[in-house]
Amino acid sequence: MSCAPDSPHTPAYCGRFAPSPTGPLHFGSLLAALASYLDARRHHGTWLLRIEDLDPPREDPTAVEHFLRTLDQFGLHWDGEVRYQSQRGDAYQAILEHLIDQDQAFPCTCSRKQLAGLPHQGKCSPTPGQTNAFRFLSDHQPHAFHDRLQGRYCPTDQREFDDFVIRRRDALWSYQLAVVTDDADQGITHVVRGIDLIDSTPRQIQLQRALGFTTPLYAHIPVAVEQNGQKLSKQNLALALDGTQPAKTLWIALDWLQQSPPSELQNASVDELLQWAIAHWNIDALKSQTEAPAPMGYQRD
Ligand code: GLU
Repeated sequence: MSCAPDSPHTPAYCGRFAPSPTGPLHFGSLLAALASYLDARRHHGTWLLRIEDLDPPREDPTAVEHFLRTLDQFGLHWDGEVRYQSQRGDAYQAILEHLIDQDQAFPCTCSRKQLAGLPHQGKCSPTPGQTNAFRFLSDHQPHAFHDRLQGRYCPTDQREFDDFVIRRRDALWSYQLAVVTDDADQGITHVVRGIDLIDSTPRQIQLQRALGFTTPLYAHIPVAVEQNGQKLSKQNLALALDGTQPAKTLWIALDWLQQSPPSELQNASVDELLQWAIAHWNIDALKSQTEAPAPMGYQRD
């Protein structure tokens, strides 16, 4: 499913939720799903689901099924067909070839060890006979962008504007190349996602500019953290969401998102809660926040 740019019925708003199937959904992923869903529905927009299954060795074979079932239990119904990035190799290859033709991508055999933590800057000479990655040739400028919640974001770490990998040495596609290709191809106008991804955004904007794609509006929401300050993540083995009491969890998630759900709605159904939340959605309540503890019962410790 895409929001085609030249359709007469094109919604002014096209959003998406784009999880990677590296583990089951947790409270943090619910927040990203819910915020992007509410922002889309509040704007009478389309909301797409894209599975970012680009890295088979890191994936959990049961995760996609868990995502679809859990989103359904929480009433977060997406529009159209689910897109799977694992089926998009030809499109990514075409983009890579275009960038190579434009002299904006180059082969690279530099290892992490050789780079020793330093940013990669400028074309290099690949070692003949070795398999190579491809990197995007950055202009090495710290491009700032405006975020709906975080305001002006200016990258400070050189790694945010180095020559980043767009196809890995093991021939897997990088997140940056795939996300930019699909956001453009699906006509995404608004991206609402966790602030842990904000440092990827300047790279994505550079790629969009090199490819002549429109840059969506970005809103990076705060992330939920464990007691020890670690972000809830699949890598950190965050607790899987239990879909048996979705309305209770939704109320707690709305409260976490600073939407002040009325206490009378604590016993409401999923549909009633979502109706209320769409009508009252106020993304600005999250302005300038970067993190907050996950509620008890939704964190590991
Ligand atoms: N697939 C990414 C993740 O699960 C999110 C990508 C995005 O929202 O841009 O962290």
